[in-house]
Amino acid sequence: MKDFFYQNESIELNELQLGYLSKLEGDIFSKRLKLIERDKCYQCNHDKFDSLAKHDRHGLKVESLLCRQCGLISTSPIFNQDSLEVFYDEFYVPINYGVEKPEHLYNKDQCRNIFLFLDEVLDEKLSLIDVGCGTGDLLKYFKENLSDRFPAMKMRGCEYNSALTKEINRQLKEELVFHGGIDQAFPEEKFDLIILSHVFEHIVDPRIYLKKLKQRLKKNSYLYIEVPSLFGHFQNYHNYKLELQKFFTIAHIFNFTNVTLRNLLESEGFRVIKSDSHVRMLVQYSGEYNTDFTSDYFPTKFYVDNTLPKLRRINEEDNFVALQERVLPYYQAIQIEKLSEQKKKRIELKREVDSANKKNQILKDKIYHHRRDIRFGNLIRKILRILKIG
Ligand SMILES: [Zn+2]
Repeated sequence: MKDFFYQNESIELNELQLGYLSKLEGDIFSKRLKLIERDKCYQCNHDKFDSLAKHDRHGLKVESLLCRQCGLISTSPIFNQDSLEVFYDEFYVPINYGVEKPEHLYNKDQCRNIFLFLDEVLDEKLSLIDVGCGTGDLLKYFKENLSDRFPAMKMRGCEYNSALTKEINRQLKEELVFHGGIDQAFPEEKFDLIILSHVFEHIVDPRIYLKKLKQRLKKNSYLYIEVPSLFGHFQNYHNYKLELQKFFTIAHIFNFTNVTLRNLLESEGFRVIKSDSHVRMLVQYSGEYNTDFTSDYFPTKFYVDNTLPKLRRINEEDNFVALQERVLPYYQAIQIEKLSEQKKKRIELKREVDSANKKNQILKDKIYHHRRDIRFGNLIRKILRILKIG
């Protein structure tokens, strides 16, 4: 494979990134690293996609595909398992962060947001593990803010990068971080809370991964998953400039929305306790496997084709601060209750129709309109409201 790296398609890159990207291209060309094309949707097996971008933010020739049936966005091609390990070992940090060794991956605000989101489940008896804890920012924040309140609380981490693991343990003066994955970390323990912050979108086979996580969770315990939000990517305006292509990266196997992440989790027996549009979710294993997914194709397509161009126009006339003030509040509302209410309503309506042997045309119309409402969702109504203000 020649020409895998297109510098004219990339964000601004420093010398270190350019060096690693051309080495990556060489390794792909020499077949040291191997790629696999995606031909079916991971969630629903559908084989028709819309292409949202032909390159990623670093100019690598990977497509972002929107499934026309369920709306899950996946990256293609991706590295095969062996190549993926080499990629994370040698390329990921310098290409993604533009430095050989990052000091911090999270800022204080990000840590505080997670902390506040989880506040209601944190207590003395809790044992938690931060999976893929990176530079340990979150663990350190939790320790600083909880050690006085809950001295008996157990905090752990695991991380694939050996240099980072050593450094965190040195800083914490305890062996709290295991070098490796969640399946091998602290095998004698189970956890009340597993934290996956900006990890889940990197997983090639999330269903197998969720099965591993289930084995590490105590009964009635919690899983916290946070992934970059497609609809919230203007929150990182300085990097992405409201351009989707600058949002995508080869390291993210999937780009989830609230709906597509929920679809996946519910189909693996998890129940969503709380979520917001960042996208972050607090879930519990319920044992009820719901394979009836809600499609997010139309909202996503509408966002890409209509909303983003309009937001860009507002932004040209206005400025970023105004954009943030107008748009952000709508995305920060916790949407979980409304969504589950809509879902309940839909199921009720379906039952009524079945009992009337589908003779009642009025009910059918109701369902039709209700489903259409769900498809276009809160997002579009909110955006339209915002645009009217603008
Ligand atoms: Zn699909």
